[in-house]
Amino acid sequence: MAFNMDFFSLKGKTALVTGARTGIGQAISVGLAAAGAHVLLLGHRDNLGETKAKIDDIGGTYETILIDLSDVSSIREQLKPVLEKHSIDILVNNAGVIHREPAVDYKEQEWLRVMDVNINSVFVLSQEIGRGMVERGFGKIVNIASLLSFQGGLFVPAYTASKHAVAGLTKALANEWAGQGVQVNAIAPGYIETNNTEAIRNDKNRNETILDRIPAGRWGESDDLVGAAVFLASKASDYVSGHVLVVDGGWMGR
Ligand code: NAP
Repeated sequence: MAFNMDFFSLKGKTALVTGARTGIGQAISVGLAAAGAHVLLLGHRDNLGETKAKIDDIGGTYETILIDLSDVSSIREQLKPVLEKHSIDILVNNAGVIHREPAVDYKEQEWLRVMDVNINSVFVLSQEIGRGMVERGFGKIVNIASLLSFQGGLFVPAYTASKHAVAGLTKALANEWAGQGVQVNAIAPGYIETNNTEAIRNDKNRNETILDRIPAGRWGESDDLVGAAVFLASKASDYVSGHVLVVDGGWMGR
């Protein structure tokens, strides 16, 4: 079929976005709603009011789902009523946590928490929601990876390991499901101004070193990720599979 701009429309689609309360997840939720999707906003505390207000402002539609993604063994049970009610066409695995500590002191409980939220829950959600996508022969999964899916980072060993795993899982699922109408891809954001990066933005030296290396000359904003997310969630990306799309103001090219 010849290309037309409707390929970017998400009208009639249902999307689930994890970590929808703040930052990148909030921006992507609003962006998917603006493109026409009904958005299931997943958070772990009942505090999604700001995201809901932003979607209300653009006349979009949403529902909220509260699941603590660090409690991986409870996710399947809590998803059941959601899957009975909705056929989810688009899954954005965005929720993520970071813990900074030198490797020799790194606490085991922090290692496990970061792994549970950043990768173990991503597998469970992708498996449970991906199953329906495969059955229906249509689906888009967009995982939020990181520059630390490629690089080592400093003092964030669990985060780096989890984000390398996100890139690997993206390719593994893409290989299995591309022939069944389900595209699995990832976005690797560069340095974006959110809660996740507050500590390094407040560290004057780190902040300057980081800014020096970004050809765009500025930190990214959450809205900088939205175009890539809508593209990967839409028909326009039907032949894109297993790709990790870097959105970083040029950092990786330097
Ligand atoms: P953020 O504002 O801290 O967003 C993280 C989101 O995940 C929050 O909405 C948070 O909810 C949610 N979350 C945390 N623990 C959860 C849990 N147990 N269950 C359910 N939800 C949970 O930071 P962000 O920068 O937007 O991060 C979004 C994604 O982008 C993450 O995967 C992060 O690794 C990735 N990323 C960010 C950058 C960057 O520069 N900012 C760069 C590369 C990748 P609460 O706030 O309610 O806890």
